[in-house]
Amino acid sequence: MKKNNSLRTQFLNMTLFPIIVLGAILTITNYSYFQNTMYKEVKEGLRSELNIVLTAMDQMYPGEYGLAGDTEPYQFIKGEKSLSDDFSFVDTIKEQTQIDISLYFFDLCAHSTIRNQEGNRIIGSPAHTKVVEDVFKQKKEAFYQKVGIGDEVFFAYFIPLFDDKNNCIGMAMAGKPTSVVQRQIGEAVIPTVVVSILMVLLASYFCAHYSSQIISVIEKINRFLKNVASGNLKTELDEKVAARQDELGEVGQSSLHVQKELRDLIEKDGLTKLYNRRTGEQKLRETHEKMEYEKNPYTVAIGDIDFFKKCNDTYGHDYGDYVLIETSKLCRSFMNQKGYVARWGGEEFLFVFERMTVEQTALHLEELRKQIENKAYVYDEDIRSITMTFGAAEATKTVEENIKEADNQLYFGKEHGRNQVSI
Ligand code: GH3
Ligand code: MG
Ligand code: MG
Repeated sequence: MKKNNSLRTQFLNMTLFPIIVLGAILTITNYSYFQNTMYKEVKEGLRSELNIVLTAMDQMYPGEYGLAGDTEPYQFIKGEKSLSDDFSFVDTIKEQTQIDISLYFFDLCAHSTIRNQEGNRIIGSPAHTKVVEDVFKQKKEAFYQKVGIGDEVFFAYFIPLFDDKNNCIGMAMAGKPTSVVQRQIGEAVIPTVVVSILMVLLASYFCAHYSSQIISVIEKINRFLKNVASGNLKTELDEKVAARQDELGEVGQSSLHVQKELRDLIEKDGLTKLYNRRTGEQKLRETHEKMEYEKNPYTVAIGDIDFFKKCNDTYGHDYGDYVLIETSKLCRSFMNQKGYVARWGGEEFLFVFERMTVEQTALHLEELRKQIENKAYVYDEDIRSITMTFGAAEATKTVEENIKEADNQLYFGKEHGRNQVSI
């Protein structure tokens, strides 16, 4: 069967897919949350730094911002102080905080730490039109995450500047290049992203590992059942599968049970649960080869219940069945460790004694004969008994000839009074 949608794929879809999606969502959410927090922090940092700078300027240079001089270039002043040639204060602030400061007279830059690509301060350059609209005209503070100042893009906080008549005469700006802030955010977020990725990888690994373990158990059971279905009833299931203390273990045990039931159905006789004739013969051939290889003797014997027809005729067929069942139980437990027994025909049994001479066999059979003779068959509140005649032969010839010889001995026993062992 071609598996486009194998259990392995389904398991991986069920586990890896949600983990990866969840991990991606978490990472993105984390990143954007972090980014927003950082933006807020940057905004607050710029705002408070700008306020400090403006307060300091007010204290150092009391008076208003304005222009001095009769002709161009005019001097940008604060009170008595000309700021056009002296950038020391804002430069120091920049050095210590990495924050750029600019002062605008109306919409033109009049004082700044920011330099253009040629390395000149951006004095005289106009503020962005949006900034002029928001801050200068509306007279409101504003924060921008992306505003072009000079040749660069900045995170910038703007505050309008007023004269003592409350006319807006310019703007002050504190800013950081966007590239610097993005780098800082990147550096701060990298550990979180790395941890998220590692967690996703770890979770994926465990999911893949455990699902693959479960799948391999299912595959083992599947292979086992396929073998059984194709008639290989001797196939084995990995012991660990049936030993599992979970539902898969139960499936494993049930599969073994099915195998055993099928084997019994094919190999055993329905009434007595002994090996049937076909299996008995097959086992006998195996024994023949094995003993030949080991160079050990073995014997074949046939036992036949005496006057069984009379038994049936007198007490009924059910009683006959009961006798067969009980006698079979006795024979099977008796043969334990000695060899095996099979139901050879109606009330005939085949016994195979491994690694034994016919003399040793005769002693065992004599013991079994007595046990059968002395066994009480309790039926319909009656206690009855039966006897059995045995013929045995040491297996020195072919399987067929050995059986024939045992059969001859049985016939001899029947002819000479029954209830005996003939060798
Ligand atoms: P002998 O001592 O010479 O062996 O005589 P016998 O009566 O045992 O032998 P015979 O072959 O004449 O009869 C065997 C009987 O076994 C005949 C048959 O009805 C009975 N039999 C065979 N299979 C079964 C069975 O499965 N159940 C029952 N109840 N009887 C069976
Ligand atoms: Mg008989
Ligand atoms: Mg018979």
